[in-house]
Amino acid sequence: MTTVAEQIAILKAELPAAVTLVAVSKTKPAIMIKEACAGGQRDFGENYVQELVDKEHMLPKDIRWHFIGHLQSNKVKFIAPFVHLIHAVDSVKLLAEIQKQALKCNRIIDVLLQLHVAKEETKFGWDVDEMLESAGPLFQHSQVRIRGLMAMASNTEDTIQIVHEFQHVKQVFEQLKQGIASDHAGFDTLSMGMSGDWRIAVEHGSTMIRLGSTIFGQRNYSTNTH
Ligand SMILES: *Cc1c(COP(=O)(O)O)cnc(C)c1O
Repeated sequence: MTTVAEQIAILKAELPAAVTLVAVSKTKPAIMIKEACAGGQRDFGENYVQELVDKEHMLPKDIRWHFIGHLQSNKVKFIAPFVHLIHAVDSVKLLAEIQKQALKCNRIIDVLLQLHVAKEETKFGWDVDEMLESAGPLFQHSQVRIRGLMAMASNTEDTIQIVHEFQHVKQVFEQLKQGIASDHAGFDTLSMGMSGDWRIAVEHGSTMIRLGSTIFGQRNYSTNTH
């Protein structure tokens, strides 16, 4: 059996150097995160606020914690003091709350805007047209640095569909980068690709992939404690 650290090493050997690997550790115990740390992994992704807060408390302080799930405005305050990157900002209201909490912590918080391109109705994020029309004011927060976009492709076996969706995200990313974001430093991150589709995502311009089950094995939601 390959260990977590070995699995990460295998992935890193295949990944282009410019692509950041975020190890998605949601529902997984701290001991597995420590194993990954021992193998040199520093970026971890979580998507439940309480679980992230608990893990941050007990694990090494040099971990870069990514919040990758849907974030409710009233929970921003719990992660604002330490979060490295918030991936899934999907509303003006949430952005305003991040600004407020970042001010309180006297820090600048890096975020990604979540773009909705998948077919599923349930996925959060801005529609492409809405994003292109109304992105301007999003960049006006003194304590929030918009680093790029995050997206999830449809959960489908249809590779062509997934390719189209990632291409679409990349195109919007470039359009923003050359347009509104060109006045703002650091718009350089495109978070797309999960265990099932990361190779396609990397082929189509992803700079950050979020892998859970490929690294840690399948998640068993019945045994998690949050
Ligand atoms: C759980 C999760 C992942 C990782 O999923 P895997 O298929 O296990 O790699 C990536 N991104 C988000 C937003 C997630 O919620």
